[in-house]
Amino acid sequence: MKEVLSQFGIVEENVDLETLNTYRIKTHTKYLLHPRNEEDVQKFVNYAHENHLSYFVLGNGSNVILSDTMYDGVIVKLDQMRQIEYQENEVTVGAGVMLNFLARDCLEHGLCGLEWASGIPGTVGGAIFGNAEAYKTATFTYLKSVRYLTPDGVIKTSPKEELSHDYRTSFFKENPGHIILEAVFCLPSGDKKKSLGLIADRLQRRLASQPLEYPSAGSVFRNPSPTLPSGKLIDELGLKGTRIGDAMVSVKHANFIINLGNATGKDIRSLIQLVHDKVEEAYHIDLILEQEYKDW
Ligand SMILES: Cc1cc2nc3c(=O)[nH]c(=O)nc-3n(C[C@H](O)[C@H](O)[C@H](O)COP(=O)(O)OP(=O)(O)OC[C@H]3O[C@@H](n4cnc5c(N)ncnc54)[C@H](O)[C@@H]3O)c2cc1C
Repeated sequence: MKEVLSQFGIVEENVDLETLNTYRIKTHTKYLLHPRNEEDVQKFVNYAHENHLSYFVLGNGSNVILSDTMYDGVIVKLDQMRQIEYQENEVTVGAGVMLNFLARDCLEHGLCGLEWASGIPGTVGGAIFGNAEAYKTATFTYLKSVRYLTPDGVIKTSPKEELSHDYRTSFFKENPGHIILEAVFCLPSGDKKKSLGLIADRLQRRLASQPLEYPSAGSVFRNPSPTLPSGKLIDELGLKGTRIGDAMVSVKHANFIINLGNATGKDIRSLIQLVHDKVEEAYHIDLILEQEYKDW
């Protein structure tokens, strides 16, 4: 199988996923495929469908809760697709580019608007999928178009106007099976010094309010409304510090679950369920998960 898969990019077998997910869940995949370009992705997907091979795309693993058992399929990582091209106020980026790198690289080319994204440890693909957002600016704000592979293996480019998006969701999240390959952002010209100041300020705010010293996957639940943060509800119930195995509700930020060292996917899942049920019982609010379970 490794030989067959090597037609579609660089292949690794029996791969430890601990450093490939920000919760640092200790789990494995049978195969990890790094396609070199969009043709590789397209050919692989066609092959996988014809041969009933299971697969999924992993960005930087900063919004997922992986299962504890070995994944008996192919995890596709687009980390070879990190091209960045500038043309006037537009930047075309591969789905595997890290958001924080892009935010700073744009400044070197006189473009601003992505300062908000500098503290988000995700890829462009993952950010578009979940319409990542911070400080009232979202991934779709400056997005112009997305190039993607449809579930039936066709490569398409759609302008933002044709792609639904909302708070922490997008067309791609609502319609599973699409693979984001590349995106174009149209950004305003800016002042590098001012933007660097903004980035430093945002990072300082994160350091003060988020448990960045521990592995996590960011906010666990979506906020029920802009004026009602999930963290406030969880905090009011005295759930900070609640622990299952090595998974713990952060004492610094109640909407973060952290890994104290050896948390399993099951520990994190059980703790999420416990918090969800306590909030539902107390407030009759059904909190929606912002992170995503990757079940296999
Ligand atoms: C410390 C910390 C702070 C965070 N702060 C924020 C924040 O302020 N705002 C925010 O919105 N999020 C935040 N997050 C969450 C997370 O970083 C973002 O949601 C990020 O956009 C996820 O990107 P990723 O590449 O890691 O995606 P992954 O976690 O790897 O994947 C998420 C989903 O996207 C899918 N996916 C990934 N790439 C593609 C692709 N190319 N095509 C199709 N599907 C794809 C995956 O299959 C998966 O379903 C934070 C996380 C951490 C750990």
